[in-house]
Amino acid sequence: MGGQEALSLWHAVSRDHRLRPALEDSLDVDLAVAGGGFAGLSAALHAAGKGLSVAVLEAEIIAWGASGRNAGFVVPNFAKMDPDAIVAHLGAERGERLIGVAAGSADLVFNLIGRHNIACDAVQNGWIQAAHSSAALERIGSRAKQWAERGRPAMMLDRQQTEALTGARGYVGGWMDRSGGVLNPVEFARGLAEAAETAGARIFEHTRVTSIDRSSDSWRLTTPSGSLRAGKVLIATNGYGGALNPTLERTYFPLKVFQIATAPLPSKARQRLLPGGHGFSDTKRNLITFRFDAQNRLISGGMHVVSAGADRRVPRTIWRRLVRRLELSDLTPIEYSWSGIAAIEPDFLPHLIDLGPDLLAARACNGRGIAMTTAMGKVLADWAAGTEARDLPLPFAPPAPIRFHGLLRYAPNMLLPWSMLRDWLDRTG
Ligand SMILES: Cc1cc2nc3c(=O)[nH]c(=O)nc-3n(C[C@H](O)[C@H](O)[C@H](O)COP(=O)(O)OP(=O)(O)OC[C@H]3O[C@@H](n4cnc5c(N)ncnc54)[C@H](O)[C@@H]3O)c2cc1C
Repeated sequence: MGGQEALSLWHAVSRDHRLRPALEDSLDVDLAVAGGGFAGLSAALHAAGKGLSVAVLEAEIIAWGASGRNAGFVVPNFAKMDPDAIVAHLGAERGERLIGVAAGSADLVFNLIGRHNIACDAVQNGWIQAAHSSAALERIGSRAKQWAERGRPAMMLDRQQTEALTGARGYVGGWMDRSGGVLNPVEFARGLAEAAETAGARIFEHTRVTSIDRSSDSWRLTTPSGSLRAGKVLIATNGYGGALNPTLERTYFPLKVFQIATAPLPSKARQRLLPGGHGFSDTKRNLITFRFDAQNRLISGGMHVVSAGADRRVPRTIWRRLVRRLELSDLTPIEYSWSGIAAIEPDFLPHLIDLGPDLLAARACNGRGIAMTTAMGKVLADWAAGTEARDLPLPFAPPAPIRFHGLLRYAPNMLLPWSMLRDWLDRTG
């Protein structure tokens, strides 16, 4: 098994990285962003586009966190809740505004790619979700209807269409949002960074924010070799924030997710699976996802119970599941395997967290955040330019630490056997 040294497949195969210098002196900006993932970079790009002075401080390198370790599915909907449930949860006005942000999120990603000529192997052919049981088919029928009612290109697929478009057998049907797709996330992030710089933003790598303190009417950010004064500060550190703000760290579940990429598939197997280059996911709690990259590597992943040796064991488990589920007895070996942390919110929705005057943390990961965090960044540029945070179309509240977080933080990974049992009962029940 190769590729263990690279952060991810994407970091290994993407163009050479142009390392930006660390912050070495002191700066004064309108907006300071901690975190160089999609959320921070999109906020920087859109805020600089409004004429604001912006600095992004990234502790490691651009896309070092989840943005460089994901599978590259661009999905314009929510991980758990459907539109009607969101309206019931947030009320009609706030609910529909949030739904509007998600609905346009994949189009935003592909439009940015087009507008800024970002070479990231982007394919906007649709994202397919296949149903593993008749109850799940009913649920996704309602899901597709709710998105279609809001003008989204959502369509149902019968059993034969699902099999023809995916090559995966055993599903009772599916649905597709045609605005979804796939991309190389590291190239996308690097393209966002370059576009942000072209718009005037400054980006510093190997620049960890170690403290954020209020001084009169602005914020002072300290890094190991410099400092920065900012009118507004956005913390976009997702599941990688560590010691920066301990309260924030208790407001989400850090879910460890594993990914693999096989060596390129021979053309016969490639033609049977996802011939249109779609992204695929199913409806299981322990869900299966797969897609191909531009070199025909088969990419899949999953969450797994994290225990000693998981980093070695889990990639093999994912590979064997592909062999079994996609009937690929001669599947090429694993070429890259990696993992990352997805910040999971208790309600699986995006959140803006009020940490003080002109200081926000923003998270929209939930394991499905390429489109949503990019869209969130655009919304945050409005905040940077003067819109009150409470008037933005995303949930906004003070931090809500999860009770017994020390005990519960690993619950999503540890509950996997229970999820697998429930998936099995769905099929047999
Ligand atoms: C394995 C995996 C697979 C996934 N697959 C998909 C997928 O296929 N489709 C999809 O839509 N979503 C997927 N996701 C989710 C998606 O990757 C995330 O939602 C998205 O990348 C989050 O972006 P972000 O900018 O919020 O955070 P991140 O990309 O995690 O960025 C946070 C950044 O903050 C930096 N940082 C931390 N602390 C500091 C500090 N003190 N100072 C400065 N910088 C700091 C980190 O170094 C990091 O670069 C996946 C996630 C994982 C982990």
